[in-house]
Amino acid sequence: MPVTQKIAPGRLFIGGQWVDAVAANTFTTVNPATEEPITQVAEGRAEDIDRAVKAARQAFEGPWAGVSAADRGRLLWKMADLIESRLAEIAEVETLDSGKTITESSRVDVPMAADCFRYFAGWATKIEGETIPVRAPCFSYTLREPLGVVGQIIPWNFPILLAAWKVAPALAAGNTIVLKPAEQTPLTALRLAGIAEEAGLPPGVLNVVTGFGPTAGAALVDHPGVDKIAFTGSTAVGQEIMRRAAGSLKRLTLELGGKSPNIVFADADLDLAVRGASNGIFYNKGEVCTAGSRLFVEESLHDALLDRLSAFTAKLQQGDPLDPKTRLGPQVSEGQMNRVLSYVDKGKGEGARLVAGGSRAPGKGYFVRPTIFDDVQNGMTIAREEIFGPVLSVLRFRDLDEVVRAANDTPYGLAAAVWTKDIKKAHRAARLLKSGTVWINTYGLYDSAMPFGGYKMSGFGRELGRHGLLEYTQTKSVWVDLS
Ligand code: NAP
Ligand code: MG
Repeated sequence: MPVTQKIAPGRLFIGGQWVDAVAANTFTTVNPATEEPITQVAEGRAEDIDRAVKAARQAFEGPWAGVSAADRGRLLWKMADLIESRLAEIAEVETLDSGKTITESSRVDVPMAADCFRYFAGWATKIEGETIPVRAPCFSYTLREPLGVVGQIIPWNFPILLAAWKVAPALAAGNTIVLKPAEQTPLTALRLAGIAEEAGLPPGVLNVVTGFGPTAGAALVDHPGVDKIAFTGSTAVGQEIMRRAAGSLKRLTLELGGKSPNIVFADADLDLAVRGASNGIFYNKGEVCTAGSRLFVEESLHDALLDRLSAFTAKLQQGDPLDPKTRLGPQVSEGQMNRVLSYVDKGKGEGARLVAGGSRAPGKGYFVRPTIFDDVQNGMTIAREEIFGPVLSVLRFRDLDEVVRAANDTPYGLAAAVWTKDIKKAHRAARLLKSGTVWINTYGLYDSAMPFGGYKMSGFGRELGRHGLLEYTQTKSVWVDLS
């Protein structure tokens, strides 16, 4: 039986119980490939967030505080095993809800989510303080303690994976959590709650409240019982969260948008660069915060690369995301599709030259054809604003200094890539580019051990790796008089 026929309505997971929203409201989650409803999901609001925060506080002060670091690690490891044992089912639900291809869900998102839990399972027993020599006759040491109750708000582009990036390190460090997934893609976060329950996480350690940003999300940000907000999403909402969090001085980490430069020098391996350029913008139908949406090509390679890239793009199979041969699914929602198409209009209007795509695909589903604009100037709207769809801007450059200046001329700083065989040029560019990640002769690689996050208006704080773990801790200094 296909998964679609057995997706039960989603309830909230609060204090270890599956409950309806207090107001009993629900909303529909839609399959963007067919425009058909998948199921109903509980719409949590301020009163539900309040219950979840209280349950998380109780768990933090109570049972979770008594769980040893080793046992926290065992629980996370068990969650990793359970995610893997359900890989096919979670991947199918993710594809139905988000429109990402089954190949990506089953080969990348779900396995990487499991890997993230396993990676942070290992960290639980390695969170250590220091002994520090001081002037006074004292024994002085530090403790790395959890923050308390953490509110986590995630977007719809990598639902299970971004849930894992947030939940696993927070639990490893001993925090408790209220997680609010995106309204477009609530289903796999609820699967994760089920896995936490099955793994034996004490009630209240992980709570999942589905609902809308301005109600459930904002209530989490405003709640005085929440010690930190970890957010991934748009820069505008990140700014709003920062303003609101000032009231209670909550800790914040923000992973926001990007307009990442993908820079191809004339001495690059052309085949690799073409694949990297395509992958950089069309992976997950361009709904990627690190999308290589500005392709800078050195003048002398421009025509050859554009020809190859156009031919490559024409062969990308777009369609049913459940088909393993499909490379491009639909945009996540009608709203997102329309947003992307309005940027296509702006590109045409501002004088960029359309060389591929540029329209909605006919038939059902929110499909936008893979789109390439040539002759883009860095000041055009399509080169400045995050489109979050399969729309590539191609720009030309003459030398390293010029391209670095143009690449950095953006409010964002999430990622960048450089394609060249010249090792000196590659490393020089890596130092000069103002972004949290630089890829050299590759694009879009991630690892649970490698820190990820933004420069400039792409946010602050790091996820993954030791850096990501430490964002969920605070340092206490203890002085013991020995005189
Ligand atoms: P968004 O509004 O920033 O949504 C991200 C998350 O924040 C969702 O869970 C959302 O809830 C929640 N939220 C919205 N308003 C909130 C508020 N006032 N307080 C607390 N939480 C709030 O992003 P979007 O509207 O879905 O997408 C718009 C654009 O954001 C995209 O086109 C793209 O440019 C960018 N984006 C970036 C990333 C990234 O990874 N950096 C990811 C997604 C989107 P709802 O589910 O109700 O919206
Ligand atoms: Mg959906």
